[in-house]
Amino acid sequence: MIRVHSPATGELLGEVPDLDAAAVAEAVARARAAAPEWASRPLGERVEALFRWRDLVLDTPLVPETLVRESGKPRHEAEGIEVLYLCELIRAMARLSRRAFAEETRNPLLFLTKKTRLVRHPLGVVGVIGPWNFPILNNAAEAVAPLLAGNTVVLKPSEITPLTSRVLNDLWVKAGNPPDVFQVVTGRGAAGAALVDLVDAVMFTGSVATGRKIAARCGERLVPCVAELGGKSPFVVLPGANLERAAEAAAWSSFIHSGQVCVRTERIYVHASVADRFEQLFVPRVAALRQSAPDPAGGAHDLGAVTFARQIEVVERQIADAVAKGARVLVGGARRGSGPGLFFEPTVLSGATHDMEVMREETFGPLVPVMRFRENAEALQLANDTHLGLNATVFGPPGEAEAFARRLHSGQAIVNDVLVTYFVVESPLGGWRASGLGFRHGIEGLRQWTRVEAVTVRRPLLAPVDRFLAKSLAFPYDPRVLAVLRAAMRLLYRRGFAAKLRPPS
Ligand code: NAD
Repeated sequence: MIRVHSPATGELLGEVPDLDAAAVAEAVARARAAAPEWASRPLGERVEALFRWRDLVLDTPLVPETLVRESGKPRHEAEGIEVLYLCELIRAMARLSRRAFAEETRNPLLFLTKKTRLVRHPLGVVGVIGPWNFPILNNAAEAVAPLLAGNTVVLKPSEITPLTSRVLNDLWVKAGNPPDVFQVVTGRGAAGAALVDLVDAVMFTGSVATGRKIAARCGERLVPCVAELGGKSPFVVLPGANLERAAEAAAWSSFIHSGQVCVRTERIYVHASVADRFEQLFVPRVAALRQSAPDPAGGAHDLGAVTFARQIEVVERQIADAVAKGARVLVGGARRGSGPGLFFEPTVLSGATHDMEVMREETFGPLVPVMRFRENAEALQLANDTHLGLNATVFGPPGEAEAFARRLHSGQAIVNDVLVTYFVVESPLGGWRASGLGFRHGIEGLRQWTRVEAVTVRRPLLAPVDRFLAKSLAFPYDPRVLAVLRAAMRLLYRRGFAAKLRPPS
C-alpha cells in the first residue's frame, strides 16, 4: 500500500494500492476491450460523457478539498486554477475536436482523377502518467483529448498525490460513463513502467529524467510518446516596462503553488537601469505573501506547503551554491515552522550569474533568482542559454517586448503578462529541447491521439482519363506513355518551358 500524508500537517490522509505489473495489465486489458465500443460512438456522445463528468466535478466539493489536503496548495489554486482549467479544457477541446477529427479531402495534381480522404482512427489505449504538482491539471485532465479522439485511458497518477484522481474516477462512473473507458491505477514508478509496456500511446508529464526513460521505451515499442517535462522559464524586464505590474506578475508566477509549477518563473533578468526599482517593488510583495497550512474550506492565504520534501532540499542546495558564488538573499532563505509540515519561505536572490545552479537547473520550489543585464541582446542570449524551453515572459514597451519574445526559444512566450497561455487551450503548447515532445492543447494536441488512414478513390466523372493515367503505373511499360510523361514533366515543372511553347507576340 501507499500511505498518503498531508504535506502541511503530516497527517495520514489515506492509503491506495501499490499495484504491480499484473494488476496494471488487467486494467489495460479492460480498457482494450472497451475501446471499440467507445471509438464507435459519435463524437457528440463522447462529448456528452465528458460534459456529464465535468458537471459532477463542479458540484462535488470533495474534489478541491481532497486536492488541497494532498497537495498542500491553497483552495484558490485548487479550485480557481485546476477545476477551472478542467472545465475550460473540456469546453474548448470538445469544440475544437469537431474540426480536428473531421474528414478532409486532398486533391492530387498528378493523379487528378483521384481524391484522397483522410480518415482518423483512435490509437487504442492511451496511458497517462502524471506528476504530483497538479493532481487534476496534469493528471485526469490529460485524459480529455485522448478520450475525445476515441481512445480509452488508463491514468497512473503520482504516488505522492493519487487521491484526487481516485475521486475523479469515481465521478466518471457516477456520471453514468463506461467504467473501463477511463480507469485509474495507483502505484509507484514500476506501475508507470508497466503501463508504458502495454499501451498504444503514452501521455507523460513529469521530470526530464523519467521522460527520457519513457520515451526510450516507447521508441523500442514504436508507440507514440507525448512528454511534457521540466522548465527553466525566464522572466525578462526591459527598460520602459511597467515595473509595478512586472513586480506583481513576477511574485505570482514565481511563487504560485510554492514554485512547484513547470511553467513558473524560474529566473528573472532585469535591465540594470531599472533593477533597483524593480527589486524595491518586488521584494516587499514577496515578503508580504501569507504562508500557512491551507484550509480545505478556503481560508485566505497565498502560499501553502511544499508538496514533496525533495524540493526543499533542492532549494537549500541552490541557495547555498548561489550564496557561495556571490548572490545575496533579499528575502526568505529558510524553512518555516518546526512541525511536520513542509514549509519554506518564499525566497529571492539578487546578484545571480549563470555559473550558479539556480540559473541553469530546474528549481521547482519557492526560490527565484534576479540577474541584471546591460543590453537587450545580452538578455536574449542568457534567456536562450538553457537545455529547456517551456515558457517565457517579457515585460517592456509592447512592440519591443513582442519583438524580443518572438526570438525566444520557448514553447510559449507571454508579453506583459504571465502564465495565461496555459489557459489558451485553443493554442498548442509543447516544450522545446528537453522540455518535451508533442503537444497539449489545440488541434495539434487532439490529432496526435489519432492515426491517419488516407483512403483514395476515383472521381466518378473522370473514369476515361483515369484509365489512361493507370497505364503509367502498370506493366508492360510503353515508350509512348513515357514520352507523354516526359512532356508533362517539362510542362509542369521546368521553369520557362510553358513560355517557350507560346508563339512570340
Ligand atoms: P517524476 O518524473 O518523478 O514522476 C512523474 C510520474 O512518473 C509519477 O507518476 C511516477 O510514479 C512516474 N514514474 C516514475 N518512474 C517511472 C518509470 N520508469 N516509468 C513510468 N513512470 C514512471 O516527476 P514528478 O517529480 O512527479 O514531477 C515534477 C516534474 O514534472 C518537474 O520536473 C516538472 O517540471 C514536471 N512537470 C512538467 C509539466 C509540463 O507541462 N511540462 C507539468 C507539471 C510538471
